[in-house]
Amino acid sequence: MATVERADVASTDAAVAAAKAALPGWKAVSPGDRAALIRSLADTIEARHEELALLEARNAGKAIGDARGEIGMVIETFRYYAGAPERLLGDTIPVAGGQAFTVREPLGVVGLITPWNFPLTIASWKLAPALAAGNTIVLKPAELTPLTALRFAELTLEAGFPEGVVNVLVGPGRTCGQRLVEHPDVAKIAFTGSTEVGSSIAAGAAGTIKRVTLELGGKSANIVFADADLEAAAAAAPLAVFGNAGQDCCARSRILVERSAMEEFLGLLEQPVKSLKVGDPLDEATQMGPLISAAQREAVGSFLADDLEIAFRGSAPEGPGFWFAPTVVLPRSADARVMREEVFGPIAAVIPFDGEAEAIRLANDTIYGLSGSIWTRDGARALRVARAIETGVLSINANTSVRVTTPFGGFKQSGYGRELGPHATDAYTEVKTIFYATEG
Ligand code: NDP
Repeated sequence: MATVERADVASTDAAVAAAKAALPGWKAVSPGDRAALIRSLADTIEARHEELALLEARNAGKAIGDARGEIGMVIETFRYYAGAPERLLGDTIPVAGGQAFTVREPLGVVGLITPWNFPLTIASWKLAPALAAGNTIVLKPAELTPLTALRFAELTLEAGFPEGVVNVLVGPGRTCGQRLVEHPDVAKIAFTGSTEVGSSIAAGAAGTIKRVTLELGGKSANIVFADADLEAAAAAAPLAVFGNAGQDCCARSRILVERSAMEEFLGLLEQPVKSLKVGDPLDEATQMGPLISAAQREAVGSFLADDLEIAFRGSAPEGPGFWFAPTVVLPRSADARVMREEVFGPIAAVIPFDGEAEAIRLANDTIYGLSGSIWTRDGARALRVARAIETGVLSINANTSVRVTTPFGGFKQSGYGRELGPHATDAYTEVKTIFYATEG
């Protein structure tokens, strides 16, 4: 598709130096002007909506309809955080002998390390609040999907951003990413990716007491009680796990069904799974494309090598491409590997439970805590279960996870810190307390 120059440690240092040099100028831009530039960036991206969607669909192999939605979210994210520069509010606090108040200062140069599953969208969740708060950026996209990030860097200049405020670096995580993590001039790392790499980033950042936010893996539960609207739950379940070919940290890959409804639910689930349209990402009708790489297909396939009962599978094209048909499995116990590890591919495990307490126990029986759903017509139970589940984002009678306007992030080993929502700029600023003596 394209040839991209591979960055190394020296180019990482050069990108950090460029971001550091641009920092004083960017901090000095007035809040209103910074807001106007972010709005202009949103307009510039909007004018290239289709071009960017096509680039993302081709680079990541994702359905074009999904790619359009993702670029739409990028635009929405920049529009939302265009309001932030003028709302970085502080407190005034009563003290003796003068006035004390707080201000929010930018952190400095911020390193963003992002994955290949929602390339520009996940980058925008970090870029928009970080820029709004007055930081300069070095963004390292995943090597597999750098193209929209590179185009984005061009668009920032077109929108009027000064040179050096946004720097995009395409190189391997273990060299360029690691250098960003260790670099003394980088104040913070915002990372989305695997729990394993997230853990190594947290350890590496400790050396320079770098701020870190981590959005990591998930093994989210979709809990279906027998009193739920089973048809609605079954109709919504496939795309909640097979969307983006299952390569989604919020994938509801454990479907917990109250035992008395198990047979009916599986019956209702079969048709929507079998009729899922898997195919050419650029075909308008496609709902699910191939997996990102040969390695990912092998990793996903390894889950089926275990002694697993397959309930039913959808279809996938033959021939070139890392195709994997959507698959529903029935693990014998909650200890099966498919119930414990993040698959990051189109495999859903359905398992029965008996009663509310067991549903909660099974949902929480994981190292992760990112997302999840509860389906029931009993409102009080929905709220009880929602409060009992150790997860960052939950929906009741729906499978939504991410909104620009609400906080997103994980409990437990799904990470720490929250992105999006009204408070995302907190993660890109330091609080400074100033006391002004008025006596003596
Ligand atoms: P990684 O966590 O390896 O990659 C995410 C990002 O981190 C990429 O930009 C990668 O760079 C970079 N990176 C890799 N190693 C380091 C390092 N030592 N220091 C700094 N940065 C680094 O995810 P993978 O792409 O390998 O996917 C593996 C699994 O991770 C998936 O199967 C899935 O389970 C999970 N995952 C979860 C995601 C989520 O949204 N929570 C997203 C992606 C993956 P590069 O790839 O260019 O080398």
